[in-house]
Amino acid sequence: MQHFLLSAGARTLSLKAVFKMGEDAAYDAFRMMRWPETDGEAVCPSCGCTESYSITSRRRFKCVGCHHQYSVTSGTIFASRKLSFTDLLAAIVIFVNGAKGVSALQVSRDLDVQYKTAFVLSHKLREAMALEAKGRMLDGVVEVDGAYFGGYVKPANYKEARVDRRLVAHQTGKRQSVVVVRERGGDTNTFVGKSEAIGVAAVRNCVDADAVIHADEASHWDALHGRNVAKRINHSVCYSDGSACTNQAESFFSRLRRAEIGVHHHIAGPYLNAYAGEMAWREDNRREANGTQAGMVVRSAMVSPVSRQWKGYWQRAA
Ligand SMILES: [Zn+2]
Repeated sequence: MQHFLLSAGARTLSLKAVFKMGEDAAYDAFRMMRWPETDGEAVCPSCGCTESYSITSRRRFKCVGCHHQYSVTSGTIFASRKLSFTDLLAAIVIFVNGAKGVSALQVSRDLDVQYKTAFVLSHKLREAMALEAKGRMLDGVVEVDGAYFGGYVKPANYKEARVDRRLVAHQTGKRQSVVVVRERGGDTNTFVGKSEAIGVAAVRNCVDADAVIHADEASHWDALHGRNVAKRINHSVCYSDGSACTNQAESFFSRLRRAEIGVHHHIAGPYLNAYAGEMAWREDNRREANGTQAGMVVRSAMVSPVSRQWKGYWQRAA
């Protein structure tokens, strides 16, 4: 069977198409996604009024009811955007096309925009992706697993100078654990904490009590028995014994690991959660065509409120 990503069905929106459609059509696309219920006609975000004066030259609207002035991106993640609608759409296409993630440096080079613009935009797109996972409950057969990221201590050159990197005293304290909770044939939820044990509370919060949970032999998962039926697999013996297996969780981690090694080189620290959420989104939507994926991200961004974390990020940092 041909791999999905190689099939024509996987390619429904290309950069070529985005640049060919031009600014007016890209603007219309954003309007349609912001206001689908009125077929792209402006709706005042302040009072809900559908009558507005259009300030065409500036692509802004003035509400007839409350005189509030707004644009298609006002109050959304894309508020105070610096890019044209064509560039914004192109950035989203580049972003969804990278199966193991896309670095801000690449977006900045591909679109000839400032690095900081690409950096903030990439994080806003991750935020839009994460929105879909918020409060999501899992059911059926659910796999749980954890893996460590960050806090790498480089071994010293000479053997005599090397330390036991397993000891807490020799660690950087920057190591964090990502826990994935994944429904077979369903959604993938991710969590970040100091250790894998945070997964126990995570499972309680996002997995139905009727679900059957599959986990490995690590002792902190013992706590999963009781509320749910839990099946265990001892990975030092085999990866699947016919009754329990966590291969779906493993395939999420291999995508996250490839993003770490191949694209970002360093995904630990404060953004680990965002990268984990992004890779879960990519895993869950890997069989959607890229045009569909771009549409999902834009729609999600258009209903997300102004990003508190990323609004004016560089102005603050400077
Ligand atoms: Zn209004």
